[in-house]
Amino acid sequence: MSAASARAETLARLAREQFDLLVIGGGINGAGIARDAALRGLRVALVEKEDFASGTSSRSSRLVHGGVRYLEHGHFHLVFESSRERRTLLDIAPHLVRPLEFTWPVYAGARVPRWKLAAGLMLYDVLALFRNVAVHRRLGARDVAGREPALRRDGLTGGASYYDAATDDARLTLANAIGAAEAGAVVANHVAVRALVRGAGVARGARSEDVLASHGGGGPTIDITALITVNATGPWSDELRRLEDPGAAASVRGTKGVHVAVPRERIGNRGALTLLSPIDGRVTFVLPAGPRHTIVGTTDTATDVEPGEVRATREDVEYLLRTANAYFPDAHLHPDDVVSAWAGIRPLVASGYGGAGDAASASREHAIARGPSGVITISGGKLTTYRAMSAEVVDTVCRTLGRSGTASTQARALPGGDLRSPARETDAARQALGAARAAAAEWLVGAYGSRWRAVWALAESDRALAAELSPGLPYIAAELVYGVTREMACTLGDLLIRRTHLAFETRDHGAAAAAAAAAIVAPVAGWDDAEIARQLAAYERESARIFAVDQ
Ligand code: FAD
Repeated sequence: MSAASARAETLARLAREQFDLLVIGGGINGAGIARDAALRGLRVALVEKEDFASGTSSRSSRLVHGGVRYLEHGHFHLVFESSRERRTLLDIAPHLVRPLEFTWPVYAGARVPRWKLAAGLMLYDVLALFRNVAVHRRLGARDVAGREPALRRDGLTGGASYYDAATDDARLTLANAIGAAEAGAVVANHVAVRALVRGAGVARGARSEDVLASHGGGGPTIDITALITVNATGPWSDELRRLEDPGAAASVRGTKGVHVAVPRERIGNRGALTLLSPIDGRVTFVLPAGPRHTIVGTTDTATDVEPGEVRATREDVEYLLRTANAYFPDAHLHPDDVVSAWAGIRPLVASGYGGAGDAASASREHAIARGPSGVITISGGKLTTYRAMSAEVVDTVCRTLGRSGTASTQARALPGGDLRSPARETDAARQALGAARAAAAEWLVGAYGSRWRAVWALAESDRALAAELSPGLPYIAAELVYGVTREMACTLGDLLIRRTHLAFETRDHGAAAAAAAAAIVAPVAGWDDAEIARQLAAYERESARIFAVDQ
């Protein structure tokens, strides 16, 4: 079946079938809920107005972490839960969630002195029940300098190393959406909910629109019928809640977080670091990203901007560069060094929401609440804990439906996660691709897990598809075809921003690669010349919307 007819069939099923559960929003929470519910045997529909992970779930620090910073505030239960989930995700998605060792350097007069850091990291190990990848280690100044030679030496008193995990937020979300579809859910991106459908005052699904077919103006509507509707729209939660209850008070409070990517050789870090910003004491991460870049983040500022329009400002970029320069004295990073800058909105639970009224469950981190016509809204949380939150939401759905069943997601590999040994699989990929393509081999295994072979098989049957998409980056043309035919990618943005991350790693955010990408995809996606032109124009708008830096 062609990609276009597969999508047409999915949309027809959305309109035709009766669902137990409609999930609105294909971020990590919505995708996780859909997969869990489908695995429990519910008839599930999942719709996402743009692409899976196009909201906050592709703008995170890409960490699956216990949350070292929660220790300072005494939120031990959050660290405990996050550490457990870190262990679970390392097991069920070993390709997408990989151990990452951090160095935390300590300087004279630091807000967190060495003794406090050591005590905190001991507690971190205890709360992980000593099941983290490895326990923390105290480091002397010489050890820290040996590990990270480019760090400032002046005032360095020592530090520590500890483990968390690195992830690919967009592909972790996608793996859940694909996993939901494979478990029987009807899953569609580029379908936006515009209104709720009610029967006798009770939500019975939603009226949605095929945004791709609309080309910017009223596309075909699809009425989706479901017994229960879940609102998992993250920073858009209140917009959706007001479709149900126009007077609903705010449930989420947005704070903006910005990251910048710079060439690794310009900053000079070897691994991941946890730093305290000398400007305001905020925890700042310096994170290796792919073979060539380093990401520095993040900021934390209150915002009420429309979530789809959130971007970095020049001030945000300068804050992050000043922080990095304070620790890497030879870097002298300047805004011209920034390859890309982007922002996301943390959908934090608004104070006063979720703990009262018809709240099904609430914590400082997340809340599950029911609206007047029965729509269940999940707010807050973080990427790390999505699986546990999803299970909690689906438990609530099952109770409401009078269905039994408990989550099995803690023990089921995500798509591609059925790998015995990522290292052995990477060796196999290196052999298949050849020594000169080692970075591509690593990327393919990391992104697709055991399914890298299916991507590479496309390149073996058509050598043109083995070509790299952008000089020096690991992405290959076969991924575009795979993305369209196997991963529900519908636009160039889906392919260049979220299936691959080319847009984050090129100064022009994929502009130079876009036309060639469109030509590769056109025959499998069924794009004619007019559609190619439309796709290129839409890509230019989307990449500017995400990566432009506001003054
Ligand atoms: P989203 O990902 O925003 O998903 C909501 C989706 O709903 C969107 O895709 C949107 O398009 C869709 N939608 C909206 N309206 C409609 C509609 N009408 N119809 C259909 N679909 C609709 N967590 C971690 O664990 N580790 C980290 O390292 C980390 N770092 C972070 C750094 C930053 C800067 C930020 C901002 C957050 C970070 N987080 C981290 C938190 C984490 O990223 C978020 O908690 C998580 O991604 C939220 O997911 P979500 O599914 O709730 O929201």
